[in-house]
This record gives sequence, C-alpha cells and structure tokens, in this order.
Amino acid sequence: MDPELIGDCVHCGFCLPTCPTYVLWGEEMDSPRGRIHLMGQHVGGTPLTPEMAGHFDACLGCMACVTACPSGVRYDRLIEQTRAEVERAHRRPLQERALRALVFRLFPYPRRLRAMRLPLRLTEGARRRLAPRLERISPSLAAMAELAPPVPARVRLPRRVRAVGRRRATVGMLTGCVQGAFFPQVNAATARVLAMEGCEVVIPPAQGCCGALSLHSGLPEQAVRLAERTLATFERAGVDTVVVNAAGCGSTMKEYGDLLGEDRAQNIRVVDLSEYLAEIGPVATRHPLPVTVAYHDACHLAHAQGIRAQPRALLSAVPGLRLVEIAESSICCGSAGTYNLLQPEAARDLGDRKAERVLATGADLLVSANPGCTLQIGSAVRRRGAGPIPVAHVAQVLDASLRGLDRAW
Ligand code: SF4
Ligand code: SF4
Repeated sequence: MDPELIGDCVHCGFCLPTCPTYVLWGEEMDSPRGRIHLMGQHVGGTPLTPEMAGHFDACLGCMACVTACPSGVRYDRLIEQTRAEVERAHRRPLQERALRALVFRLFPYPRRLRAMRLPLRLTEGARRRLAPRLERISPSLAAMAELAPPVPARVRLPRRVRAVGRRRATVGMLTGCVQGAFFPQVNAATARVLAMEGCEVVIPPAQGCCGALSLHSGLPEQAVRLAERTLATFERAGVDTVVVNAAGCGSTMKEYGDLLGEDRAQNIRVVDLSEYLAEIGPVATRHPLPVTVAYHDACHLAHAQGIRAQPRALLSAVPGLRLVEIAESSICCGSAGTYNLLQPEAARDLGDRKAERVLATGADLLVSANPGCTLQIGSAVRRRGAGPIPVAHVAQVLDASLRGLDRAW
C-alpha cells in the first residue's frame, strides 16, 4: 500500500454520504475515510487483523468515493493494493476459501461459464424454489441460485460484421465472460448497432477474460496474465480500437497501461460503447420507440470511467422514448463484480434499496450497461414481488430503434 497515496487523504469526510456501506451501517471503519485510516495503520506496522480484512472485504470497490473526493485521493489504486495485501497476509476461514476458490475458478473462464448454461436452464424453477432453504446453509449459495439468470438461446457471432453503407471505422468488440455466456443477445445487438452506424466489427472468437475480476479481487498476477492475453488477441485481429459493452470490463481494460506498462498497452484504445457512439455521431435513422426508460448508472461506467452523459444522450435521441432518473443514482446496486456472492447480506440490502427507487420511477424498462447490475437489480425487483421489470442494455434499445422494432429485449 502506497503511503503517499494514503497521505493524500485530508479526512474531510466529503466521501462519506456517497459510500454505500457507510450509508447502510453508519460505521466510520466502513467508510472510505475509515478504510484509508486502517490502511495507514497497517503501513505503520499494525498487523492485518481479521476485523481489518472484514472492513476491506465489505468495500464494494464502487469508486463513488473517488468521484466525491475533492482532494483527488486514488482510492481505486489503494483498494487494489490493499486487496492484494489481504490475499497475501490474511488466512480466511475454510468455508470462505472454498467459496472464493469456486468463484475464481468459474467466472474468469468463458468456457466454464458457458458449460453452466444447460444445468442452469434445466434447474431454473428449482433454483428459485430452493433459494430460501439454501439461505440457512449458505447465503452465498442462496445468492447464486437466485441471481443466475434465465438462460437465453445461444447466439453465434460471426468473426466479422460488415459495416452497413459507407465504412467509417473498423473496431474490435469484447464479448466478455458473463455478458458472453448469459447475455449473448446484448453482444449481438452491440455488433448490429455498430455496423448500422458504419463500423466494421471484428469479433475474435477465442477471447478470454479481460482480468477485471482478478484485478478487483487482489489477484494482480492473474490479472496481468489475462490482460496480456486479451491485448494479444486484439492485436492479432488487427484492430487498434476495442469497443466494450460491459462497464466492469471497460474500466479494467482502460487501466491496462497501469497494469502492463504504457508502452505495452499503447497499441489498443479501449472505449465504452456509449462513449464511442457519442464520439462518432449518428448516421443511422432512429425509429420511434414509445417507452419510458429508467437509466441505471453502473458504478464502473459512471464513477470509474466518468461516463454518464453519453448513454443518456443516446437514449434521449430515440424518438418517443422518455428518460426518467432514478433517485440516489450514484449509490451502488450491490452487484460490484462478485460482491453479491461474497457479501450477500450487504448486497441484498443495497439491491432492495435500488429496486425500490427503480420501481418508484414507474418506468416500463430499466436500462443498464453492466451485466452484473442487470442480474442484481432484476433479482431484487423479483424479490419484492412487484412483477418483473424488463432490463435491457443501451445497445438493445438502440438496436430496436434502428431496426424499427417495437422492442428487442
Ligand atoms: S469504493 Fe465504494 S464501498 Fe468502497 S469505500 Fe469507496 S464508496 Fe465505499
Ligand atoms: S478520501 Fe477524499 S473525500 Fe474522503 S475523507 Fe479523504 S480526502 Fe476527504
């Protein structure tokens, strides 16, 4: 943990009201300022206790504190370094180790995730019925059963999608682990929208994990390996721009310079889908879509990449679409990568809080740019028994409008 970065905190407390765990529990040690204080104590020689590790584990890594901090404290770097230190210096109880081993051997591997599709499809009803009973054995297993989405039909993407009309650019597209396995329709919509906006889309078939999960979980060596492989995949595909439609993956890929060195990462530019579409401007005709949309700010898009205006502008430009805001939009929904599996109680409280605010908007459709948020909020809405609210990605809304469909989600 870098003492200089720790020293940048002037303890002003501006970040406290934006921190989801502080909002939930009102505990100083579960606030950014409190966690930075604990980091300082450890750097100063205090051994890492299980209590300290608990406060660090409870952090969602949502980066709301980075946005709020007037002193520019790099909490994102601090928590990454701290998580790596926790993994080195702290021995977790057996059950926790087993759960983490399961999560980290499954999620960063697209093929293993895809292999889960059939069993998940066959057990969909049973899973939901079993979830309350599993709660007594392990809240994490109950969360897994509840969160796993309905499995859509498999979508095979071509290696290359030709631009419609005059080609304005050639871009690579990341398919992602969770996005690829459970939301293939979002990837298909992304490729179609890019093509209709004049981009040739290159989709390398053998893409692995971008390293986001490992980087955010204190496993930097694994993150470096996966990042290196992802870069090499797109370099071999001959593209210099990669469009990403999952907020968590995009924010990590934009940090490849820090992770692998600026020289290594400089050949590939990473852009979020909304950011890129706003940058190149529209050429395709938008058809009316009469729907009221509540847009959810994914933390790794809004806080980590500073992308808030572009998705709202793209949605608002669809004729007939009415955009409504969700109260407390800067507070995390509790998804945060694998947080909802590893810290299920806090995640559930945050999910319920978010679902309440989403339903209060009266929107017909919730739009989110991150698969984790889609699963988390969808499950929280179901738990409230309010009848499911459809959740779509920005790409699916644009795809429907560009193709003149009533809906495509
Ligand atoms: S990253 Fe999020 S949960 Fe963690 S300290 Fe910052 S605001 Fe709180
Ligand atoms: S992290 Fe920033 S906002 Fe929070 S207490 Fe420190 S200086 Fe203030």
